[in-house]
Amino acid sequence: MGPKFRKGTNIVMKDAVLALRRTWAEVSLDAAVRNHGAIRAQIGGDCRLMAMVKADAYGHGAVALARLLQELGTDFLGVASLDEALELRRAGIRTPVLILGFTPADMAPVLIEHNLAQTIFDEDMARAMSRASAGCARALSVHLKVDTGMSRLGLVWRGVETLPALTALCRLPHLYFEGLFTHLPLSEAADDPETEAQIAALALMRDALAAEGIRIPICHCANSGAVIQYSKARFDMVRAGLLLYGLTPEIHLADRMDLVPAMRLCSVVSQVKTIDKGVAVSYGRTFRAPAAMRVAVVAAGYADGYPRALSGRACVLIAGRRAPILGHVCMDMMTVDVSDIPDVHAGDPVVLFGPELPVSELAALAGTISYELICSVGKRVPRVYLRGGLEVGRTNYLLGDEEYVTRWPAAPTPLSDAPSLRL
Ligand SMILES: *Cc1c(COP(=O)(O)O)cnc(C)c1O
Repeated sequence: MGPKFRKGTNIVMKDAVLALRRTWAEVSLDAAVRNHGAIRAQIGGDCRLMAMVKADAYGHGAVALARLLQELGTDFLGVASLDEALELRRAGIRTPVLILGFTPADMAPVLIEHNLAQTIFDEDMARAMSRASAGCARALSVHLKVDTGMSRLGLVWRGVETLPALTALCRLPHLYFEGLFTHLPLSEAADDPETEAQIAALALMRDALAAEGIRIPICHCANSGAVIQYSKARFDMVRAGLLLYGLTPEIHLADRMDLVPAMRLCSVVSQVKTIDKGVAVSYGRTFRAPAAMRVAVVAAGYADGYPRALSGRACVLIAGRRAPILGHVCMDMMTVDVSDIPDVHAGDPVVLFGPELPVSELAALAGTISYELICSVGKRVPRVYLRGGLEVGRTNYLLGDEEYVTRWPAAPTPLSDAPSLRL
């Protein structure tokens, strides 16, 4: 049994603060608000914004972010699956939601009941969804996805010869074709001819369907890269994920918009000690101290989402200084070199990544992308939501609903003595 938290009370209580004494992710809602504003400024007033909150809002916490986005008037929320959509509806989110991935057709009544829009991407699926929606009170809202060159989901586009199939789909009964979209595999590269061709193909389909009397209100194709690089890709709506969280798909795009990383992954020092020359550190003995050195054991590991691939490669920040990781990152902890950092003690805060230590830098060292690192932050890592430097809410996935903050968006309360205040 986890500790009980009364609804409507300040949740910064003894047990909850103790939960922060290991590893947690601070999520700056101020950063999310600012990034949201930067996206709006970039796309202009006539274009809608779908905020991508799939994968638990890229690890930031889907419900908390969706509440904020609803407050900000975001037009649409994008999720990957029916369960992700239902999580939002269950939390009382009323903003329109599009499911971008596969949902079995027999779920159509559930989609309709919860007012969820579903992506459809081939004729069999469209017919099955149409049949499954027949007995329902309303038509099922669908967005038709066309594959113009990514070879992932979508009706394969082979040019104008595909138009009759597209038109036939859009005439199926019991479906309301709210959206038409495609997806770009290389939108972070400027002036890419294949991307230009994909954008032109979407415009062509939209116009050809309109000529047949089929007007689809929301055409969309731009992801974060295209929001920066391709103004022509905006159509009626953009689907932005990474930008909202203050990151860009490529490091060279970082100064193109006024963004602030929303997540700071934090941990604490569990133990500090001196090891002798020649002594090995961590599994596999891949590192041996070349001389006596001071090391700190940090209470985060790969089960928290910190990549093991960063073993012996990356640094963490302690008191604002870089402490190199020694040997292998373990499941629950890692050992770092603090020989050059004076006065390190058990309980001191550690930054694993955040505004002061870019996740893109770690991603490059780990041979991956920022997306993967933020999405991988584990379920045992509480998310602590900050506004104006004050805690306004917290999600602890292990302790469950009791710690789910219900005061949203009431007045913030101080983060009390949580270590993050001293960063
Ligand atoms: C995830 C996703 C996006 C958002 O991509 P970002 O690069 O994070 O902006 C847009 N469209 C589709 C279909 C997606 O799956």
